[in-house]
Amino acid sequence: PGGDVVLRARDVQVRYGGVVAVDGVDLEVREGTIVGLIGPNGAGKTTLLDAMSGFTRSTGAVELLGNDLSSLKPHQRVRASMGRTFQHTELYEDLSVTENIVVGAAAAQGREPKGLDETLELLGLSDVAEVPVAELSQGRRQLVSIGRALIGNPRVLLLDEPAGGLDSRESQWLGQRLRTLRDSGVTILLIDHDMHLVLNLCDDIYVLNFGKVIAHGVPAQIRADRAVADAYLGTT
Ligand code: ATP
Repeated sequence: PGGDVVLRARDVQVRYGGVVAVDGVDLEVREGTIVGLIGPNGAGKTTLLDAMSGFTRSTGAVELLGNDLSSLKPHQRVRASMGRTFQHTELYEDLSVTENIVVGAAAAQGREPKGLDETLELLGLSDVAEVPVAELSQGRRQLVSIGRALIGNPRVLLLDEPAGGLDSRESQWLGQRLRTLRDSGVTILLIDHDMHLVLNLCDDIYVLNFGKVIAHGVPAQIRADRAVADAYLGTT
């Protein structure tokens, strides 16, 4: 599904001492889609995101819009138009939503940032723009950290567990916001543990286990995949 390939990983491998955390992963994310990256705890999902965004050393290649970014530092990848969020984003509790989001605009240096109003609007945060982050629900806090990456106007947005810590109602609500983002043309690679969210939202899904891709396909294929069920039950 989707348009041209925006982000591609080719044979990406990450080793931590004797541990091969990511083991020869090939993955592609097409324009205008949400691609899910799932797998049991310790499967290598965050490490793969770190490799793609330059926070950890890897072999293989990471390409954005056909350009090899492998030798670039994290901030250079942001300038090259790759945005990301982190599993544990620290927000400035006493500052407003707007103030927390504009922090991210500096990262886009050299490229046109998305306007603040557009960013707030896309994330449904306009009505709380001046509210201190400390007063927000967990779901909205996640959107603020997404806003911080989005304001840099990335061609692809890498999200590390945005539904972490959300109850199912908030997670569904977050899913709707992410769908709106996708429909506005933002391309997303999403890690999450909430299977309901991933299976309902994503256009395409990769499943990692022990650092390798064990399944890849549309949600219906992943739902029916025996190896995926086994991996989640811990029988492989
Ligand atoms: P989770 O769903 O629990 O967040 P994950 O799929 O994101 O897990 P990773 O955090 O990428 O998995 O971890 C993959 C493997 O690499 C694990 O075996 C982990 O222990 C190991 N690992 C991760 N970071 C490091 C590190 N900095 N040093 C050594 N080993 C690491």
